[in-house]
Amino acid sequence: MTKQIVTHRDAINYTAGRMALAGGLTALVTLLFLLSDLGADAKALVPVGEVQHASLIVAVGVSTVLSGALSYRSAILMRQLTLTRAELARISRTDPLTGLLNRRGFDDAAAPLLAQAAAAGQRVVALMCDIDRFKTINDRYGHDAGDRVLARIGTILSDFAEANGAVIARHGGEEFAGLMVGVSDEEATRYAQALCKLCSTDVAGNDVAVPVTMSFGLATHLPGGDLAALMRRADQALYRAKDLGRNCVVQIDELEAVAAC
Ligand code: GH3
Ligand code: MG
Ligand code: MG
Repeated sequence: MTKQIVTHRDAINYTAGRMALAGGLTALVTLLFLLSDLGADAKALVPVGEVQHASLIVAVGVSTVLSGALSYRSAILMRQLTLTRAELARISRTDPLTGLLNRRGFDDAAAPLLAQAAAAGQRVVALMCDIDRFKTINDRYGHDAGDRVLARIGTILSDFAEANGAVIARHGGEEFAGLMVGVSDEEATRYAQALCKLCSTDVAGNDVAVPVTMSFGLATHLPGGDLAALMRRADQALYRAKDLGRNCVVQIDELEAVAAC
């Protein structure tokens, strides 16, 4: 759309302009058609049937072409609106730095997944993980290097999510959340340990390698609980992993590091 319509007055002015254009075009086409069909002599006697016939052709022709053009234009605008809405919805649920879901996107995806899994009697394990001493990374290597670390961790987590059908999101800052469906506690611990090892890595910074580690908390969904309760329990396990020295995996029921990386 080239014309900017922002206020109600803009909409009225635009509509008035279009009505004037349609009226003018209709008058012009009608005049030209009647001139060519009935002649230019204003005083000539013409059979009524001929006038009716010519008027009918002009009325049907002009209204069909005009309404077709208007309908096509509004269909194109509606299509653009639908695509724009879908793109805005995607952007509002995506973290731009890592490309992962953001917290809102996670809640929107995880809540129905949890309900579905619970109804089907499948086990669900939640995961909360957090980069260790990230403030020190920013302070020592700079904010840009910190951002590169976040992007690298985001790639490791999204590759894992894709390979294992898990939902993973950047929950905020340097903290990530995940949901795994249909896995036992042992499998979930193995997955988290594998992730812990992958995230224990050096990320290229400004001329230096930035050493990174992550801590992981796991919690299994309990019948009757909701997503918020499940994530709170995974968060408690994460806190415990931090207390135990970081770079490890803690399951909420163990509260001891079930896997050190
Ligand atoms: P802990 O091991 O206990 O988690 O310590 P921490 O230093 O990782 O945790 P803390 O909460 O003290 O610091 C988190 C830091 O993460 C502080 C904040 O500036 C930084 N941070 C949050 N979001 C971003 C971001 O998008 N980019 C960068 N570079 N830093 C961020
Ligand atoms: Mg941290
Ligand atoms: Mg944190």
